[in-house]
Amino acid sequence: MIPFLDLRAAYLELKPEIDDAAGRVLNSGCYILGEEVEAFEAEWVAYCEAKHAVGVANGLDALHLALRALGVGPGDEVIVPSNTYIATWLAVSQCRATPVPVEPDARTYNIDPARIEQAITPATRVIMPVHLYGQPADLDPILAVARKHGLRVVEDAAQAHGARYKGRRIGAHGDAVCWSFYPGKNLGAMGDAGAVTTDDPEIAARVRRLGNYGSDRKYVNVERGVNSRLDPLQAAILRVKLAHLNDWTERRRLLASAYMDSLADTGLTLPQVPEWAEPVWHLYVVRSPERDALQARLTEKDVGTLIHYPIPPHMQAAYADLHLAPEALPLAQKLAGEVLSLPMGPHLSPEAAQQVRGAIA
Ligand SMILES: *Cc1c(COP(=O)(O)O)cnc(C)c1O
Repeated sequence: MIPFLDLRAAYLELKPEIDDAAGRVLNSGCYILGEEVEAFEAEWVAYCEAKHAVGVANGLDALHLALRALGVGPGDEVIVPSNTYIATWLAVSQCRATPVPVEPDARTYNIDPARIEQAITPATRVIMPVHLYGQPADLDPILAVARKHGLRVVEDAAQAHGARYKGRRIGAHGDAVCWSFYPGKNLGAMGDAGAVTTDDPEIAARVRRLGNYGSDRKYVNVERGVNSRLDPLQAAILRVKLAHLNDWTERRRLLASAYMDSLADTGLTLPQVPEWAEPVWHLYVVRSPERDALQARLTEKDVGTLIHYPIPPHMQAAYADLHLAPEALPLAQKLAGEVLSLPMGPHLSPEAAQQVRGAIA
C-alpha cells in the first residue's frame, strides 16, 4: 500500500521536538502573536532570502491581504493563471476585483508570460503568477511586462517552499509573495497558517495592519482590517519543521528523479523542468489522455493518487457569473482532464517509484 501522502509520518519523525514546542507555547501564557511568531517570521524570511515576513492565518488570507495592501479594490482587474487552485482567483474576488485568466505554458503548466500582455486593460493592477506543483513560474518576463505597464506582481507560492528561480529562492522576486502552511504543503503546520514575504517595508507593514483589525496600535484602527494572525502554536511547530525542510525537499527530489527513470517508457507525459528552475516537487504530476482508467488501476493496486485539479476555476459554479465557456480556456480544460498526481512526500522511499511503475504496467 502506497499512500498519496503520509502526514502522520512527518509528525512521528519529529515527535519529541514538536511536542516540546507545543508544550512551550501552552506553558508560556501567550496565545496570540508574541515571541514564537516573531521568531518564525525571522527564520522564514531568512530562508526565503527576503527582507520582511508577516505571518497570517492561512494561504488564502496571505493572497487577499497582499492584494489589499497593494490597493486592489472594486473595479480593478488582476491577471491570474487559468490553471491553478481556486484560492488564487478567490483572493481577487475577496477584494471585489475581477480575476482575468491567462492560459499556461503547455510544458510547465504555469502561466505563459507570452500571453499576459494581451490580457492587460486599463483596469489591470496586478499579475499573480502561481508556482504550481512546486515549480517556479518564469518570473523575469512576467516582471518585465509588469514594469512596462506599471503593474505589481503578487506570487502565489503556496506550493513552492524552498524553490529557486535562476538561483535565488522564491521569496521576493515580485512585490509580495504569499505562502500557505496548510498541513499538506511542503512546509506544513498542524492546522491553518500562512505568511507574506516581501522586500518592501510598506507592503509588510500594511499586511500586518490589515491582518490585525487595521490597527498598528491597540484600539486605534486606521483602516477596516480583518483578524488573520499566525497562531503561536503553529509558529512553534513550523520552526521545528523548517529546520528539516531542506532535508525533506532532498527526499522529494530523490523520489522525483526515481519517477523520471522508472516512468520514462510508459508513454505518460512526465514533468519538464526548465534549466532556470529548481522545483521542490510539492506534487509529481503526470498526464495521460486515459487518466481516469489509469487512476482506477492504481487505486486497485493500492497506490494513492489525487487530481490537481479536476475542475478548473472557470468551470466552477462559483465563477458561473463570469460566463466563461469551457473552450474559452482550452488548455486549463484539457489539463484538468489529463493530470494525475502520484504519491509524493518526504516519507516515501525512492523505491516507491518502482512499485508505482509496476502497478501502471
Ligand atoms: C494551498 C493553496 C492555497 C491556499 O492556502 P490555504 O492555506 O489552504 O488557504 C492557495 N494557492 C495555492 C496554489 C495552494 O496550493
